[in-house]
Amino acid sequence: MHNCKIIRSSLTDLALDEIQPQLKTQLLAELKDCSACHEEFASIRNALRVSRQALRSTLPAESFWSGYHDRLINRIENYAPLTPRVPWRSRIWLAVRKLSTASVRVPVPVGAAALVLLLGALSFFAWHSRRPVIAPPALLDDDPQDPNQS
Ligand SMILES: [Zn+2]
Repeated sequence: MHNCKIIRSSLTDLALDEIQPQLKTQLLAELKDCSACHEEFASIRNALRVSRQALRSTLPAESFWSGYHDRLINRIENYAPLTPRVPWRSRIWLAVRKLSTASVRVPVPVGAAALVLLLGALSFFAWHSRRPVIAPPALLDDDPQDPNQS
């Protein structure tokens, strides 16, 4: 009795011709009787044919390999980097620009502590700059041009 599920599990092996000759004959006979299995087999064979063509099209021609070794050695010996040489001033500028746009991950407690320290330092200097500067009285009364002085 024909079982489509069992037949279809062997169709890929049949399409690849990796099956015993006796089983191959039996499968081909069953494919003649079932149009669904026959269609599935045709589809698998077609997919294999297309993939073989694609594989063949990616392979280089046989003439490619004749001088390959010499061309490869020549290319290695005459290797030149694709990137142009950058003058040292531009390299420094690039490094500075890279450094200025880089981001550094800082843990939250460290960032908070740095912020508290910064705010503390700013308020400390703000507090000390608000006190008025008082000159000593001796400096203010020591004008030699003043005629009122004795
Ligand atoms: Zn079938």
